[in-house]
This record gives sequence, C-alpha cells and structure tokens, in this order.
Amino acid sequence: MFENRLFGTNGIRGLANVELTPEFALKVAAAIGTFFEAGKIVVGCDGRTSSPMLKSAVISGLTSTGCRVYDAGMVPTPALQYAVRAYGMDGGVMITASHNPPEYNGVKVMASDGVELPRELEMEVERIFFEGGFRRAEWNSVGDVLKLPGVLETYAEAVMKHVDRDAISSARPKVVVDAGNGVSALVYPSILGRLGCRVVAINSNVDGRFPGRPPEPRPENLTALSSTVKFEGADLGVAYDGDGDRAIFSDERGVIHWGDRSFALVEKAFLSENPGEVVVTPVSSSKVVEDVASEYGGKVIWTKVGSVTVSRTMLRVGAKLGGEENGGVFYGPHQPVRDGAMTTALILEILAKEGRRLSEMLEELPKYCQLKDKVPCPEELKQPVLEELRRRVSGARVETLDGVKVWFDDGSWILVRPSGTEPIYRLYAEASTEERVAQVVEEFKQLLSEIISSVRS
Ligand code: MG
Repeated sequence: MFENRLFGTNGIRGLANVELTPEFALKVAAAIGTFFEAGKIVVGCDGRTSSPMLKSAVISGLTSTGCRVYDAGMVPTPALQYAVRAYGMDGGVMITASHNPPEYNGVKVMASDGVELPRELEMEVERIFFEGGFRRAEWNSVGDVLKLPGVLETYAEAVMKHVDRDAISSARPKVVVDAGNGVSALVYPSILGRLGCRVVAINSNVDGRFPGRPPEPRPENLTALSSTVKFEGADLGVAYDGDGDRAIFSDERGVIHWGDRSFALVEKAFLSENPGEVVVTPVSSSKVVEDVASEYGGKVIWTKVGSVTVSRTMLRVGAKLGGEENGGVFYGPHQPVRDGAMTTALILEILAKEGRRLSEMLEELPKYCQLKDKVPCPEELKQPVLEELRRRVSGARVETLDGVKVWFDDGSWILVRPSGTEPIYRLYAEASTEERVAQVVEEFKQLLSEIISSVRS
C-alpha cells in the first residue's frame, strides 16, 4: 500500500498504526506543507481513537515546513471545510476515515476554497512525498500552532442562515438524530434544536470505537434509528456517517431511504424556485434525479463517482446543487461540498413549508427499485478486468464515463465500477421491479466473477 499513490477517492485512507503510522502521517504532512509553501492551514480531526495521535504527527509535519497551523480540534468535516474559507486559510487538513470501520483512519486535504484538492494537485503532493526534498523551515520560521476556537459555532450559524427558521420552528418537527458516535454529535443535534425541532438524539456520545453502530449509514446499520422514530412517533429520523458529511433519512414510519431519493426532494424544491439551474450528480445516482430535473426545468450534469469530482464540477460550471446516492448533498449557496447538517436543514425546511409527511413526499417521486452489491477484486486486476468488461458489453447502450454503465431497453441500468478505496468492484442497478433489478445484478456479478478469474489465470 502507498507504493506509488497516496490518495484514493476521498483522501488517504488506511489502517491506523499499521498503514497510517505517525511516521507516515508526519511525512505526508511535510509533503502537504511543502505544497502549501508555508501557508496558514486549519487542522481538525474526527473522534477516532487514533485521530489525536495522527493529528499531532500532521501538525508536526506541517509546522516543520513553516506552515502556521490553526487547530480546530474535533469537528465534522463540513465544519472544517467551512472554516477554511470563513477564516481565510490557505488550506485545511482533516484527519478522518469518514464511514470506514473504527480501525481505519485517513487524511483529507482541502484547498483554499474548502473543497478537497483536485486530482492533479493531489499528484503534486504525491510527487513531493515520493521524491522527498521537503521544505525545512529555519529555526526562527518553524510554524506556530494556534488554537482556533469557535469553528463549530461559526459553522452552525452558516447552516442556519440558509433556511427559513420561522417555518421550521412553527412546524416544531420531532426529529431523531443518530450521530453513530461520530463527530456530528458535537453540533448537528444542537443546530436542529436551535432551528426549533424537538430533538431525540441516539448514539450521541463521540466514541472512536463506534459502539452504537458502524459509521456507515447504510439501512442495515440503522435499525435503532428506525425503531426510535416509530417509538417516539417522530416526524423523521436522520443518520450521519463518521465525519458528518452524509445524511440518510428515515421517514415517520421508520423506513430508511437511499440518499438519491432525499436528494431528489431537495432538487425538486430547489428547481421549483430556481428553474433552469444545473444539478450535478455522479453516474451512480438514480434516474429519479433526471426525472425531477426534466419535470422542473433543470439540467443534469453526470460526473464520475466521487464527491471531489461533484464539488469541482459544480465550481467549474457554476452549479448551485449537487447530490450523491450515498446521502451527500452539496448546497452551493452554503458550500459546494457535501454537508450532513445543511442537508438536514434543507429537508426540514421542505417538510415545514409543505406541511406534509416525508413518506408522502417521497412516495410522489418516480419509483425505481435499486440494488447495490460488490464483488471482491484484487487491486492489480481492476484495470485489466475493466478493459475486458468494456469489450464484453459492447453490444448494448454503454457509457464509460466511470466504469461501465449499461442501459437496457426497458429503462433499467447497471453501473459496474472499481472502488477507489477498497479491493472490490461495486455494482449499482436500478429497474422498475425487484425481480428485474435482482436479475440484472446477478447476471453482472456472474460476468464479473468470470472475467476476474479469466484475467487472473
Ligand atoms: Mg464522510
């Protein structure tokens, strides 16, 4: 691992103290600091057991190059991203492994616009890392380390100003918040309380062992959220991933919905008020995003999978809204990165203004059955497998923007792509019936396994 590349889809990820050791983090930070040329860098971390250890190493590496470090402490990723711009920093570094299991950790690097570095600049950091030759500050210009208090409050205010607080507080919705023992617990429940919600918080103590549930907000991990929503008679439930950039919702019946459906609700409200706007989403998203856009006069720009690509595309084309199927919503007027608290505030505003139930509003959207699956594939076989896959499916309508996306005559589709973070191929499919989607996934799992073993031999 990390032999010639550091960054995956979302930063550098690895097993804490196995791959991501303090020595490694120190060297990575020296490369980052060299890249930023003695700038002002805000550093934050999530609540993982290894985060303080790695943060110290990162601060050491950055200051050795002459960067001045502003330590934001434990914060959700979107709060750190907001701080980069709000405090006029040259960049940011977040120690987090997002939704990965507790034994992992990672490093995300933000540019001065608060968005993670584009791939070409990550490559520049990688070049510095592998070549060595780090900038070393003289004794009298080693970087300072300053505390940066108030990041959470600055962020909370920023989120709240984008929604109609009066509408939400008059509706007084009861909301169950499941932070999953992640850092979102530090501020998201309080934001919802200040917006006038009646908040019931579960898994709300930050604990790097994630005792309440795994940090990924997948439906199978959210049974406690779903039962609490029902038990409390709540209007909705929301769960965040480990660093709080993704939000997944439960309706008032305790049913958990995929992120592209909640995103489609935000999209519908946004396009109703801003017809003709552009919406950015990766090729893994449901067709519902396109259906809503065509009904409300918007235009969809499809991108490769990966939040950085969505953010960077939004900035490039001047789009104000982006979304992902995993629960990431990018609200440009606030910041063009996915943000769990902002997403929740937007959904609450929609429900309050419409005065309707979440289940009803989701029910009105075009309905598709979705299925996701994965097939193990060693890292070194990913590329030859992809090439072979492209050859084999050449007969159908095929898109190769990212992996292989095949559309069938009945409107169903499947996307098969190598994961950027794990030794697996991911499959995403959508069709009008459960049977059809299962059939499509089964067919492609078989094809993929067949190709993997043929490429291997
Ligand atoms: Mg995350």
